[in-house]
Amino acid sequence: MAPGKSQDAFYARAGIVPLPLMVRAEGVRMWDDQGNDYIDVSSGPVVSNLGHGNERVAQAMADQARKLDFAYSRVSRHQPNIDLVERICALAGAGYERACLASGGSEAMEIALKFLRQYVVATGQPEKRKIITLQPSYHGGTIATLAITGDEALDPFIDGFAVRSERIPAPFQYRVPPGHTPQSYRMECAETLAAKIMEIGPENVLAFVVEPVGGLATGAQPLLEDYANRVREICTSHGVYLVYDEVMCGTGRTGRFLASHAWPDAQADIVVLAKGLGSGYAPLAAMLAPAAMVDELAGTTGFNFSHTYNANPIACATGLAVLNEYDRGNLIDAAAALGSSLKKQLTDLAERHPTIGDIRGSGLLMAIELVMDRKTKTPFPAAFPPTEHIRICGLKHGLVIYSRRTADGRYGDWFMIAPPLTITADECTELVTRLDAALTEFEALALPHMHKDT
Ligand code: PMP
Repeated sequence: MAPGKSQDAFYARAGIVPLPLMVRAEGVRMWDDQGNDYIDVSSGPVVSNLGHGNERVAQAMADQARKLDFAYSRVSRHQPNIDLVERICALAGAGYERACLASGGSEAMEIALKFLRQYVVATGQPEKRKIITLQPSYHGGTIATLAITGDEALDPFIDGFAVRSERIPAPFQYRVPPGHTPQSYRMECAETLAAKIMEIGPENVLAFVVEPVGGLATGAQPLLEDYANRVREICTSHGVYLVYDEVMCGTGRTGRFLASHAWPDAQADIVVLAKGLGSGYAPLAAMLAPAAMVDELAGTTGFNFSHTYNANPIACATGLAVLNEYDRGNLIDAAAALGSSLKKQLTDLAERHPTIGDIRGSGLLMAIELVMDRKTKTPFPAAFPPTEHIRICGLKHGLVIYSRRTADGRYGDWFMIAPPLTITADECTELVTRLDAALTEFEALALPHMHKDT
């Protein structure tokens, strides 16, 4: 066997088309080695908020590499770290005065869990160990974050191998159980948090971890303000820390720096950011925490855990350059405005495509749910995984689409519409035109599986 191959050598091979070999990218476009161009519909896995090939970011990275490539955070300080944290905390606002920097979402999620755990151990509440998360949800790819990820398909992997979180139902709004309105269902879901805390015993519960706007796990299902306010109330009354996983939805994607800024009365104790913070240029993530907690812990044991690349100078300089570009292009406001105009275009598209069941999300973090029957909201059967088919149809029509079946399609099937925040109105139209063609081809393939009367 010849040695080598790219990363996808490790992924499932069955039924997939060869991945394009990308050689160049600029703005919202990518080019493969055959000269085909693609629109980056989902910013990779919702990471490239700035779009590709930004010269000023590239320059800042090169300058930092020349000036001070590395300085270890356990034995020295450097200015890009100080400047970036000051900037992030100012954007995040009161309650988030400290930021522990890391290299990716999973690492920062683990830092959040370890920080809270160490804090309760240091402050005399060592029984607090249990974590509650939504089913479904996604919180990362390390062993601990997979164990708190709500995905039944992971059970055989996790069982007996890692400590699973306790689960409560995600407040889906598209399909609600009989007898419920979307509002009554989400409020019932909020009450399951109180019931779960009582079942475990509040003294044993460390944290409730939740994505303010879901990613691929729920197809961009946002939490709504009444739900968020209620879970904040429940966490406060039971002494449970509320952690917002804003790895995907944070850093401006929803039209606010934090997605949870939408709910002033439901701020978290801890927020985790990643993806858009480095925007694909550098591995960068942050755990945001209140000064009171960080400083109290620093006054006793200190937070004991670190990684070699925490607050890496090149990553910090990149993060600063990325945030400068946000200001330059007013990208957070752009995400809100373009998000609503793109959603309208997608809604018009749904008139021609019966497989579009739902279009949901917030700002430029959206998903389209694909159904076999729009009236009954019936998902596609296991034999026809729509996430894989739409990805392949997308490639044929010049779209790179992020979609992957989660929880074996148990909750439905969707793909992410989350282009770079720098996308123009004309590029949005082009994206929708290409998607129209991709969906037409997808529906021809899906036809044998669909009901005649849809
Ligand atoms: N949490 C959420 C909500 C995510 O979307 C992701 C990545 N998809 C992660 C955590 C893990 O981040 P990373 O892949 O950077 O480790």
